[in-house]
Order: sequence, then structure tokens, then C-alpha cells
Amino acid sequence: MKILLVEDEPEIGALVRDGLGAEGFEVDYCEDGDSGMKHAIENVYDAVVLDIMLPGKSGLEILRKLREGHNMVPVIIITARGESDDRIEGLNLGADDYLPKPFFVEELIARLRAIWRRSTETGMSQLSVGTLSANLMSREVRRSGTLIDMTPKEFSLLSFLMRSPGRVLTRTQILEQVWGYHFDPGTNLVDVYIRRLRTKIDLEGEQPLIETLRGVGYRMLDPDNADGDAGEG
Ligand code: CA
Repeated sequence: MKILLVEDEPEIGALVRDGLGAEGFEVDYCEDGDSGMKHAIENVYDAVVLDIMLPGKSGLEILRKLREGHNMVPVIIITARGESDDRIEGLNLGADDYLPKPFFVEELIARLRAIWRRSTETGMSQLSVGTLSANLMSREVRRSGTLIDMTPKEFSLLSFLMRSPGRVLTRTQILEQVWGYHFDPGTNLVDVYIRRLRTKIDLEGEQPLIETLRGVGYRMLDPDNADGDAGEG
């Protein structure tokens, strides 16, 4: 599980980061609200752990921004003593759980695992875009029911795109998320993989699903919500 942790108190932050790391979680750790907001919006996480009182953007502002953008990543807010109003507001804004300070890291880990279990049981392990579906547990990809073979890297790229239909993902974001590169290797790696994916998923008679935004990146189309968006606009 990849977790974003936003917490400005260094002792708590380090403790949680190390505790989660020791349990095999991959953790991005931000110490202020502005970088927390940036990470939350630009990356894809399995869960976000948000402190409320932060320098810069507050945890509640980050949560609101995520939900306004239809980003349904599970969020656990951590609240200090006396912040019960914030806790209620957080739950109203769509937080999945809260944990009052002080807490044991073990408790947070248990909550994260519970969220993960819930999301896999309720079918959130199944991504679908139009007639394309990908199962995060079995790693099966199907287009209108037809099973499609994927290499692990192709699957990572496809599921990254499918988690954010309608959203533009830059080459830099894709390289970071799928390949773990924090630099541009100066190759057309991403473009090559996108081409391979298209060949595999855009079966004859099916709508092409990956859009190229020249000079910017790629976008998984969102055929399920296209009508709704047009109607609202
Ligand atoms: Ca704080």
C-alpha cells in the first residue's frame, strides 16, 4: 500500500513514517499543508493520513479539494485534543475514519488495513472505464469480457491511468508512479508503453480510451461520465 502522510509535528511524523515503513507500507511524508496538497493531487495513493492543523493548507482544505475533484482515495484524519468540531467536519467532507492524538502506530496500521480490506471486499479492487476492466487483486484485464495479457509494467501503467479517468497525467507523473524515476531518463519509454497498451486494449470495434495531449501527457477517457459532464456544463 502506498500512503501519503501529512503531519507537521516532526516526532509524530517520523514515528508514523517509520512504523508504517517497517510494516511494508510505502510512505510519502509531507510536513506542511501546501506540499501535502500537491502530493495528494498529483499522485495516486491507496490511503492518505491527514493531520488537520498544518502550516499552509489545513488537512480539511486538502480533503475538501480531493473530494471536489472526485478523488475518492481513503482518508484518515488525525485530530488533536479539542478538535472534535474539525473531526465532524472531516467526516462530513468525506473522511473515511479519524484517529484522535495521541495514538499508537499499531492502531493506525489496523485502521489502514481495515480500509484496504473494505475497499477490496466492496469491489474497489475492480477498476472499470467503459468496457475496459482491471482487477487489482487478480491483475486480470478484460475488454468487453475478452481477457487481455499484460506484463507487470503494462498493468501498473494501465491501472494508474484507470484510477483517474478524465485526468491528465504528465510523463513526469507517469515515470514517477510507474517506474519510480524521479528524473527524466530522456527516453520515450512512456510513449512506447502507451502505444503497447493501446494495441492491447483498443480491440477492434471498441472506442480508443487513451488520449494523447501533445506536449503534456496522457488521459484515460471517461466514457461513463462524458454525458454527465456535458449536461452540467
Ligand atoms: Ca498539526
